[in-house]
Amino acid sequence: MKNEKQNKILSEFEKYKKMDFSFSKGDILGSMCTEPFPIAKKAYISFLESNLGDPELFPGSKKIEEEYISLVINLLNGPKNSTCIIGSGGTESNINAIWLAKKLSEKKEIIVPESAHFSFQKIASLMDIKIKSVELDDNYIMKVSSLRRKINKNTAAVVGIAGTTELGKIDPIPEISDICKDENVFLHVDAAFGGFVIPFLKKQIYNIPEYDFKLSGVSSITIDSHKMGGAAIPLGMLAIRDKNWLEKISVDTPYISSKVQAGILATRSAGPIAAALAVYKELGFEGYSKIVEDCMQNMRYTKEKIIDMGLELVVEPTLNVLAIKVKKPSVILNELTKKGLKVNRMDRYSAIRIVFMPHVTKKSIDRFLPVFKKICKKTGEI
Ligand SMILES: *Cc1c(COP(=O)(O)O)cnc(C)c1O
Repeated sequence: MKNEKQNKILSEFEKYKKMDFSFSKGDILGSMCTEPFPIAKKAYISFLESNLGDPELFPGSKKIEEEYISLVINLLNGPKNSTCIIGSGGTESNINAIWLAKKLSEKKEIIVPESAHFSFQKIASLMDIKIKSVELDDNYIMKVSSLRRKINKNTAAVVGIAGTTELGKIDPIPEISDICKDENVFLHVDAAFGGFVIPFLKKQIYNIPEYDFKLSGVSSITIDSHKMGGAAIPLGMLAIRDKNWLEKISVDTPYISSKVQAGILATRSAGPIAAALAVYKELGFEGYSKIVEDCMQNMRYTKEKIIDMGLELVVEPTLNVLAIKVKKPSVILNELTKKGLKVNRMDRYSAIRIVFMPHVTKKSIDRFLPVFKKICKKTGEI
């Protein structure tokens, strides 16, 4: 009886699941998330009930967290005293970063490039923070000459982006780092997307500048495992240069096993962390490099086909993100959706975006391209 009821509930869920677009079938070409790698699913399930908000109850899970933190710190060239706050994703990590910068400086203004993620709007609203924007140059990266003029005695932090959400561009973090060091201002690097791309690319592409803790002006870095890390949602980290800073965003926790807790979350699952560590251990640096190179290869392949069609790009891509100019993004998007294909609309650039995630294979591109071309012809784009 019990099983019958369960089966009924679950088969009803299957109906809903079928309504969703799917990574594995290649429907989704405009997401920064991907299908978790197989080992991630297994590891996730086995740590489903572990709560890292109460670490003495789950010392084994805590070890998994520690190991993952040290891998990520290593990937970001973190100094000896650095650590990570593990959370739900880039938004939470950005909130933690600005919370920390505000507490360290006791100031209430931040400076972000115009390309900053919308999470900074939430931060402004949540934390009574004023945002000053810095314009972009012709390459859609932060105009450093304007940055210096905007820093003043109220500046709590400067934000640079390593892999912008819309165009995958990388701000000139070395120059920004020098300025922040000179001015003694906290520099937060938002590498939510780029954090699991750039380290694996540097060997192949030589003109990608430094963006991590190797630069002494960098104070903190956001990096998402549930994007290019191939892990399961929700998992992102805020890496910080000095673990002593955690005190500034910690509170006493009277009834659980730890004495203090830093950051936003209390109860949080070890599942996503186990998933992310499992992926990292399986792939290693070489495995990730191979995946990133495949994504870049697919991006270049698509770029050529798009140009052959007579379309233009918003900007020459740096990472595995392609922004294609179209006159009517919403029309193109609707037509593609009718064919079961999902890309993003970017009205401010009059463009659509494709993100070349690991599930976006050459096969799925070869399915997309003829459909896209036909739509462009029908709607007068080409
Ligand atoms: C995706 C993204 C975020 C937000 O991350 P979530 O995990 O969706 O909360 C923040 N910054 C950048 C640059 C991003 O690409």
